[in-house]
Amino acid sequence: MIAEVIVDIASGETDKVFEYLCDDRITAGARVRAPFGPRTLPGFVVRLKESSDYPVEKLKKVIPEEDELPALTPECLSLAKKIAARYRVPLALSLRLFLPAEMRTGKVRELTRRFVELRAPLENLSFRASAKKQLAAARYLEENGKTESAELNRLFGGGIVRALEEKGCLTVTQEQIKRDPYKSVEGIAPPRVLTPDQLAAVKAVKEDGRTVQLIHGVTGSGKTEIYLTLIADCLKEGKSSIFLVPEISLTPQMLSQLRARFGKNAAILHSGLSAGERFDEWWRLRTGEAKIAIGARSAVFAPLENLGVIIVDEEHDGSYFSETAPRYSTFEVARLRAKSGGCKLVLGSATPAVETYKKALEGEFHLIPLKKRINKRPMPEIEIVDMRREAKRGNHSPFSATLKEELEACLAQEKQAILFLNRRGYSQSVICKDCGYVAKCDACDVSLTYHREEDCLKCHYCGAKYEMPTGCLECGSKKLSYAGTGTQKIVSELQKLYPSARVLRMDNDTTSGKEGHYKILKRFGEREADILVGTQMIAKGHDFPSVTLVGILDADMSLHFSDYRSGERTFQLITQVAGRSGRAEEKGKVVLQTYSPENDVLRFACRYDYEGFYENEISLRAAAAFPPFSKIVRVLVSGEDKKATLEAFKNAYFALEEVYGRYREDFLFFDKMAAPIKRIENKYRYQVLMRLAKTDALPEIYAACAEYGGKGVLVSVEENPANLS
Ligand code: ADP
Ligand code: ZN
Ligand code: ZN
Repeated sequence: MIAEVIVDIASGETDKVFEYLCDDRITAGARVRAPFGPRTLPGFVVRLKESSDYPVEKLKKVIPEEDELPALTPECLSLAKKIAARYRVPLALSLRLFLPAEMRTGKVRELTRRFVELRAPLENLSFRASAKKQLAAARYLEENGKTESAELNRLFGGGIVRALEEKGCLTVTQEQIKRDPYKSVEGIAPPRVLTPDQLAAVKAVKEDGRTVQLIHGVTGSGKTEIYLTLIADCLKEGKSSIFLVPEISLTPQMLSQLRARFGKNAAILHSGLSAGERFDEWWRLRTGEAKIAIGARSAVFAPLENLGVIIVDEEHDGSYFSETAPRYSTFEVARLRAKSGGCKLVLGSATPAVETYKKALEGEFHLIPLKKRINKRPMPEIEIVDMRREAKRGNHSPFSATLKEELEACLAQEKQAILFLNRRGYSQSVICKDCGYVAKCDACDVSLTYHREEDCLKCHYCGAKYEMPTGCLECGSKKLSYAGTGTQKIVSELQKLYPSARVLRMDNDTTSGKEGHYKILKRFGEREADILVGTQMIAKGHDFPSVTLVGILDADMSLHFSDYRSGERTFQLITQVAGRSGRAEEKGKVVLQTYSPENDVLRFACRYDYEGFYENEISLRAAAAFPPFSKIVRVLVSGEDKKATLEAFKNAYFALEEVYGRYREDFLFFDKMAAPIKRIENKYRYQVLMRLAKTDALPEIYAACAEYGGKGVLVSVEENPANLS
């Protein structure tokens, strides 16, 4: 047989397929080691065939890896090919999505440990009377059977294993250990009796013939329990499931629920794991030992066979779009997988993306509404506070009088509060009062944020740190002022106002490490703090029964982005954050502070009126021909070398202009411009922005751009990008 092998998966830049001879043990999808010049490289078999155009005697032989199964299933292999074609990337690059990084380089192996057991029944072994420890260890082995060698040494003193070995009492074996990434995650959730609404939703998903099911359920309506039931039912039928959550911060919480319910059947896949852990979790899924994959968007590529359901929780979340090539939409990939495997794709959200909801109303997706919270608990009342009025009254603090009153009441009743502000650091920027100079990052075209804890300036785009200047770098003036409030400042203001209140902060600066989020949330959940201050990462999915107050400090922040989705984002964010309040017996309250209280989006959000918001939003989008009535395509060209970047940009632009010429009718908009942020991490950025009424030209847009990247310049095509900076 002849095997077509991709060896360059680690760099993924080109599609070099090489032919090798192989024996019939090898199947498509298998990991192999391929002789390549003087070296041997790790590779994957993408196709088997009978004959080659090359003379057979010139072909070398590949060496199979000792895997139990071929790493790539036939379904994954075919999906990888579809993705490569759809997003115009080399197959090597799309294959990378399906393999944990450590498998591409072949550097990580199974972890093995040394185990010992008695060679013969204890009565057949003899011990000197003085060898009390040896006898005790032997008794232990007789009782407990096979034991890790290190464990025996720990129990009976170092050297015990060697002593017993020398006496010939032991059989020694090497065994594979599965690294468990979440040892500290405890099981918490016992299975629940479903409410009639939840039961009806489960039934609706199962009985409907459509692939895509949208569960539109208000926050606290018990969507998680519905997902878990769907997964459990799949498991009973021997089918596997994929459960996607938007952010890594949410994964440990969900995982602990899944662990409690499904034990070792649940495996986690995400970038926060160590290489070894990911390798083991991945193989547990591949071999079918675990049948439930949970993770952020990349878990959609889990190597599972016989899928029964793919669940996408918080389907509207921006993190479901990949920001590196191939820039896939998780929904699109999930839909492809679901279609080919006859499985259901279940989307869930309290605030579905406008695009998704439109398809559900039109009947393409099955719409399952859940309008009530569990046990008919009321939605928390949202009170709008006009911050212009506060300023007029002389209150320039970040807290309105209403919010302070509510906070005091909440603390007095020993309940918990969450304060939300989507800006980390202490203050947003440092400005010279004399000349107006704003401290900026050397590598990016953005202003720096002051972080008081470390007394430094940080760039939130590239992470660079700068010493806090003692004076203005432009004119030397000592009069520097801090503009804009960040989470650190909120915490220190709270400590001044309420010295006895315990405050926790959760943002990118406090959540390092793979369990960083989990630890903060756990501490708050165990009531180690009264107030949690945080950025949008506190908005999602968390369930804290004693939270009765939520403060949204600056609801306008996301309204002012020049993005067609800013209204939608604001609505989603407010609904999500507000949904953290009053989830148990106690009624919840939300204080929403804004400088534009008359804004439609805020008004709909306060009434929990998703349908009203949607009607309003969809008519605005239709009038302006924005998505879902069109598709926005951005071609972004970026690179460190300004000349080379501009050159590539010009070439790409001319190529795109030709496409534009040929499809002029389809284009609503076509123009080139500097990107809103002209430089990030020392890379210059230019863009061509397009809006298409029909997507026939899309493959040609990809093709036109494919040629001009390389040599340090990246040319990327983004469809309806989540972030237009
Ligand atoms: P959602 O994801 O829709 O916001 P959750 O799944 O977090 O809602 O559920 C909200 C709350 O209701 C949680 O505290 C959950 O434990 C509880 N809950 C869910 N289903 C049931 C049920 N069948 N019986 C009792 N409590 C439930
Ligand atoms: Zn100055
Ligand atoms: Zn920077």
